[in-house]
Amino acid sequence: MQDHGVIAVHRLRICWISICLSFAYASLSFTAQAEVKEGISITVSTSDAQIEIRAGAHGPELLSLTRSKTSNERVWQNIGGDALPTSVTVDGAEASVNWTFNSKASSADSRHAVFVYESQDPKLRLSWEWTARAGFGAIEHSIRVENLSTHEIWLQMIDSLHARWALSSGKEWQNFYVEKGADTPSAVGTHLESIGEGYRWIGSSSTYARPHKDQPREIIPAIFVFDRDTQAGWYAGIEFSGRTRISLERQGNNLDSVLGLNPEPGPFRTRVTPGDHFVTPTVFLGAFDGGPDGAGNQLRPWVRQVLTNPLTWKDVHYPLLVNNSWGSGMAVDETLALRMIRESKELGLEMFHVDAGWFRGVGDWYADPKKFPRGLAYVADEAHKEGLRFGIWVDWTQAGLDTEPGALNARDPKVRNWLVADIGPDWKPEPFKGQTIDIGDPAAHAYAAKEVKRLIETNHLDMIEHDGYLVAQGCTREDHPHAAPDKSTMQVTHDWGSDFVLASNSTDVSYHAVHAYYDIYAQARREHPGLLFEICNDGGRMVDFGSASHGDYFSITDTYDPLSNRRAFYDTSYELPTAMLEDYIEKWPTPRIENFLYMLRSGMMGWATIMLDTSIWTPEQHDAAKGAFALYKEKLRPLIRDARLYHISERPDGKRWDGMEYWDPELAKGVIYVFRGSTPDEAEHSFKLAGLEAGRQYDLHFHDGSAPDRTVSGRELMDEGLKVHLRYPLSSELVFLSSGAATH
Ligand SMILES: [Zn+2]
Repeated sequence: MQDHGVIAVHRLRICWISICLSFAYASLSFTAQAEVKEGISITVSTSDAQIEIRAGAHGPELLSLTRSKTSNERVWQNIGGDALPTSVTVDGAEASVNWTFNSKASSADSRHAVFVYESQDPKLRLSWEWTARAGFGAIEHSIRVENLSTHEIWLQMIDSLHARWALSSGKEWQNFYVEKGADTPSAVGTHLESIGEGYRWIGSSSTYARPHKDQPREIIPAIFVFDRDTQAGWYAGIEFSGRTRISLERQGNNLDSVLGLNPEPGPFRTRVTPGDHFVTPTVFLGAFDGGPDGAGNQLRPWVRQVLTNPLTWKDVHYPLLVNNSWGSGMAVDETLALRMIRESKELGLEMFHVDAGWFRGVGDWYADPKKFPRGLAYVADEAHKEGLRFGIWVDWTQAGLDTEPGALNARDPKVRNWLVADIGPDWKPEPFKGQTIDIGDPAAHAYAAKEVKRLIETNHLDMIEHDGYLVAQGCTREDHPHAAPDKSTMQVTHDWGSDFVLASNSTDVSYHAVHAYYDIYAQARREHPGLLFEICNDGGRMVDFGSASHGDYFSITDTYDPLSNRRAFYDTSYELPTAMLEDYIEKWPTPRIENFLYMLRSGMMGWATIMLDTSIWTPEQHDAAKGAFALYKEKLRPLIRDARLYHISERPDGKRWDGMEYWDPELAKGVIYVFRGSTPDEAEHSFKLAGLEAGRQYDLHFHDGSAPDRTVSGRELMDEGLKVHLRYPLSSELVFLSSGAATH
């Protein structure tokens, strides 16, 4: 452990280096890369976070993390840390690795540092890298191992980041994390746990969350760790969709935090062929204050700027209002599609989305000629004529039994070896689910890339939605690039069309398949700029920061009632940009027009897709919906894109009141979504607002007229609260907020 005096010396040196580097940066107006000297501390920083790192002779060190904007007391010292791999397997034998720091190959400036370590025999190069891609927010980290030898090597698990933080005593540390809304949001969803002595926690994520009763849910792979009193702390997350985990373990005042690939069930091993490399999933590390909403209000804009597609955000219609055919299930056909296009146009919706049911069969992703005699491109063109965009559902890694040309037939000898497991003689696909192929296999990857391209181009798509168990996380094959499974412990279970394989190689299978998935979508994006990608995976099962950088929006739950929609949004919106969070809105009992608006608005806090038969709406419902869509486009969408978000109530339970506050300090505008639950005698509720200025006056406008407009001070809204009165249970209100003059 380092004593305080040593730390202070470091800090002096760092300040000096930072000043030099900032000066060089400013005067040369490009990123000045300085050579890195062994043993000297270096800082990489954004306006929110600063890390201090050092290249030791045989390994790099993360020394500390500091909250930049505040005083030095918010410094987390790392007293343990990453150890470089000490051995690899070459030609079936264990070979020890001796790493030497290469100062000349390493470089650093205030935004980026890479420390290079080399091994002569076996010939390997390891790059330990930290990058501040935005001026604000988090700093990213990855470790890359290149095989420069002429032999195939096998690596054991290399964690993305392992830190042992020294906790200051006398503080109550907390761990905040959220679940994926996989299938349906659980009763808890958002977790806040005390990190007491002996605390031990693991949160995991995969390509396809499968909730099991009595087992912890998968998390969106990020954690916020903070001190209960000051509400200040650090956050970290993983930019990868494969099998990953984050763990926290406290012993005394040491808190071990590990982020990276999931070593279970293991033992993990991965192949690196000569000239190829392995890279740990990129992780991000940041510092914040203001509790979970403070972290979220820093993380969401950072995700937007650093991870998502800038072209998507240039489109002022993003997030779009969508009309989806799933309200009619698999019964979609041309007649229904053309009617829905007319209705979409009339209602002011912006995209027509054909869900499952349009194809000849599973894996046979061509329009069913009985349903679409003129093909899907004809329907797309009809949508385009009405000024609408057009998108389709597809499960492009699923094989079925169709034998038509172009179909992915599971019994075709070529395809059979791509399947994650052999199918039995009686196997049949489900109506829209089949056996998953492992796109980590190069031949399967090439097929899938070509198929995605064909689907986009021949169907004139503006949006492609992928669903189901798309990206493999377990595979029985021994001749794929991933490690072979240990068959003595391998479990194969069948669930909803596909086999799920859990074996020693599962994490490695997901590593290869996820990279193939990213590659296919990166290629599709390059070839079709402006094309939108919906990540569905049976609702909320692949919600993570890696897919956020390869897709444009997420279906966040597979149950679509108002409570599920609000719960999934409440959880997910702590970590991902709200514009990316899609709720599907389904038919729900709406005896009163107030209930109808409650149903719509419960799914309109982020990206809104309706899957309702709009042709059976009463004239009153039709007018209400049309008004709700117009309001969304004019006033709500700009706030959903750009405003800060505050969770101003407990997580929705459907019985009590709940609400969500959007506030954009630059525009001085905001909105409060207010929902009254089912409790009959609770007609009034006060919401304590956040993020306002106590001394300013705010003009309130109650959109539905539940109260007269009035002007209130920020102090009153934050201390006493915004009082709302709603006459009917299961109703809602939108309270718009704009800033008047300061009172002081
Ligand atoms: Zn495989």
